[in-house]
Amino acid sequence: MGLDEDALDYHRLDPPGKIEISTTKPTNTQRDLSLAYSPGVAAPCMDIHEDETDAYTYTAKGNLVGVVSNGSAVLGLGDIGAQASKPVMEGKGVLFKRFADIDVFDLELDTDDPDRFVEAVAMMEPTFGGINLEDIAAPECFTIEERLREGMDVPVFHDDQHGTAIISGAALLNAADVAGKDLEDLEIVFSGAGASAIATARFYVSLGCKEANITMCDSSGIITEARAESGDVNGYKRQFARDTPEGGLADAVDGADVLVGLSVAGIVSQEMVRSMAANPIIFAMANPDPEITYPDAKDARDDSVIMATGRSDYPNQVNNVLGFPFIFRGALDVRATDINEQMKVAAARALADLAREDVPDAVVKAYGDEPLQFGPEYIIPKPVDPRVLFRVAPAVAEAAVASGAARVDIDLDEYEAELEA
Ligand code: NAP
Ligand code: MG
Repeated sequence: MGLDEDALDYHRLDPPGKIEISTTKPTNTQRDLSLAYSPGVAAPCMDIHEDETDAYTYTAKGNLVGVVSNGSAVLGLGDIGAQASKPVMEGKGVLFKRFADIDVFDLELDTDDPDRFVEAVAMMEPTFGGINLEDIAAPECFTIEERLREGMDVPVFHDDQHGTAIISGAALLNAADVAGKDLEDLEIVFSGAGASAIATARFYVSLGCKEANITMCDSSGIITEARAESGDVNGYKRQFARDTPEGGLADAVDGADVLVGLSVAGIVSQEMVRSMAANPIIFAMANPDPEITYPDAKDARDDSVIMATGRSDYPNQVNNVLGFPFIFRGALDVRATDINEQMKVAAARALADLAREDVPDAVVKAYGDEPLQFGPEYIIPKPVDPRVLFRVAPAVAEAAVASGAARVDIDLDEYEAELEA
């Protein structure tokens, strides 16, 4: 209750909302104004007319991301519509700015029609260095992103899909190592088959897991080939349909090494945790309440359970803020045309590697002196760790250059030094 009231006051405080536009050049004299606008502004216009990449030199494009939503799957609030989603999109802008000094225009588009949405966003390509799609319902989010990535020459990244995939992917790399298991041997069960689950399952395959070892459950149970053949599941779920008997989550989880929850609160029992293989890995990421709580999962068995949730009050918080600011930072700084699979994998590996390093005292202090040392209770870095920027952005930039998605090459050492300055 207290939090709601405080949040309303926070947003209402004059000026309403959380963001404003500010200018970056002098505007004091008549001369300044004739440079900023007519007639001086014609000169950069004509340069860009000659060579469109000059937009990165003369305009804010290269540091500007469009956060675009239709409000159809906002937080855990559902389809609350474009207007009601605006506080979230402004908030996303705040995070981009706070963590990576990236500017954001938030754009709430009042349509549930994927064609109109795609058309509107594609037309805005001249404005932005990148597009962060946000809180768009599955399965439309998949086609919308696919079509925009294909049609646009700047990165298009649906954070609800890939943010979770990348950060939990980093956690999986380290969890498998801590549990002494190989990625390609992991039997993985997903609870949930929506936007984040499908993207996460695909990404785990990019990291080295076997698609054939992934079992996915939606609200009707295991996604089997029989269900897929009967036309009961959408095309995105069908990729993960398995040739097994019908069953529920409890059947799927029996003997599994990894359980990934991207569904709803409370649907995983201690009994299910007990039925898993030795030293199981459980990422229960439904927000705000996980599929099973951290204490319940830990208490369920005597061997080590490696657990992550979306919550900040337990170890291993999978929080998208560990990803998107730094991934876009790296992409923008090489004027990337895309955020491709290589760049996503590079981000996950950089996060995983960072968790193996000693943690600076300032970060440990910020988390109330709980010891942060690589192991079951610390498999991914903390969001406030300043090193995340210095590691993830260069890794993404490097992968962009290596994979041909960068418009400019950069000196990585110089770039890292610049970020740290
Ligand atoms: P979504 O697209 O709506 O998908 C939800 C999925 O959960 C659907 O596939 C749905 O099944 C399934 N589901 C619902 N009830 C179920 C049940 N009883 N048993 C098994 N599956 C069930 O939502 P999303 O964007 O992927 O998000 C899913 C959850 O993950 C949310 O709680 C969200 O907050 C959380 N999340 C957390 C993070 C993080 O970083 N911590 C990031 C992203 C998402 P049907 O397909 O049959 O409807
Ligand atoms: Mg979101």
